[in-house]
Amino acid sequence: MRLKTLQINGFKSFAHKTILEFETPVVSIVGPNGSGKSNVVEAIRFVLGEQSMKSMRGKGGSDLVFKGSKNLSQGSKAAVTIYFNNTDKVFKLSNDGGDDINLNYDVISISREVFSDGMNKYILNGTEVRLKDIHNLLASVNIGSSGHHIISQGEADRILNANARDRREMVEDALGLKIYQYKIKESERKLEKTNENIKEVTMLRRENAPHLNFLKKQVEKFEKGKEMQVELADLYREYLKKESVYLEQEEKTLSAESNKLKNELKDVAGKISSTEDNSSVAGNKKIEELRIVEQKINSIRSDKNELGRKLGRIEGMIEAKANRVKISGKCPLCGSEIKDTETDQIEKRQNEEKE
Ligand code: ATP
Ligand code: MG
Repeated sequence: MRLKTLQINGFKSFAHKTILEFETPVVSIVGPNGSGKSNVVEAIRFVLGEQSMKSMRGKGGSDLVFKGSKNLSQGSKAAVTIYFNNTDKVFKLSNDGGDDINLNYDVISISREVFSDGMNKYILNGTEVRLKDIHNLLASVNIGSSGHHIISQGEADRILNANARDRREMVEDALGLKIYQYKIKESERKLEKTNENIKEVTMLRRENAPHLNFLKKQVEKFEKGKEMQVELADLYREYLKKESVYLEQEEKTLSAESNKLKNELKDVAGKISSTEDNSSVAGNKKIEELRIVEQKINSIRSDKNELGRKLGRIEGMIEAKANRVKISGKCPLCGSEIKDTETDQIEKRQNEEKE
């Protein structure tokens, strides 16, 4: 792994995009005072995720962005990209499970952008990542956050004057222990989260215990119900088998009975039809006789009516003559004088005849 290229754009005094190639292992940058040598070192600090503004001689994000000059206007963001040669594939990134994954790129590029409002953006090989990922990645190549690898102007004595704790941190960084410390911290964080989750789950379990008991009972009932269903099905099957035997038997008996009745019916029907044949001949004869008798009765009745009418006419005539006799006092038959009593007798005789 080796520093390959540094690209500075809009960072501090670098208004335009500036590319610095580090082709040999030994590189030095020379220039007059105030030409921006220290700004190059700060650009490297910046892109490696430096959070201390003080170490970059600024107070906020806007101090890192090009402030503008006589001829150039102020920039809106500062961007620095650093390229590492990774042909030996030493750069690693830990995944969520804590496993290290070697990055399969020949060149690793890390970019950081800062905007005037102080907002930061980190990009690893074209993909936006978190600062944590940058730290994780750099720790895998023993570049920690102690800054021991960058000694700024006037800071040479910083290492010499460092206290035991800071020195230890630098040594640990150089030894590549930082990544393990990250992992420990990460694991502790996860452990803490897991403990919180356990507490939450315990609480939920306690809360849900009555409901769980209820559900257990329901399950027991359901299982019992299932058993009973199986038992019921067996009983049903047995019952149906018995019923089918009984029904077969019944069917046989009934069909025998039905056959018997059918035969009887056939006999009776035969008898009826033969009886009907006989009786119809006799009946027809009698009906014919009855019709003749009826005709006779009718003709007698009409004769009687005729006679009745004639009798009525005659009686009328007699009555009329009797009335006339009564008025004249002579007998209509012999012409002799008749007394009242005789007239009465004639009338009486006529009434008797009428009756
Ligand atoms: P020396 O040799 O004295 O150490 P140097 O080469 O290290 O100087 P730097 O300190 O890197 O110089 O650069 C300082 C220059 O950068 C100054 O001229 C300053 O005006 C300029 N500078 C710093 N911050 C900004 C900024 N945000 N915008 C524009 N220019 C800036
Ligand atoms: Mg300087």
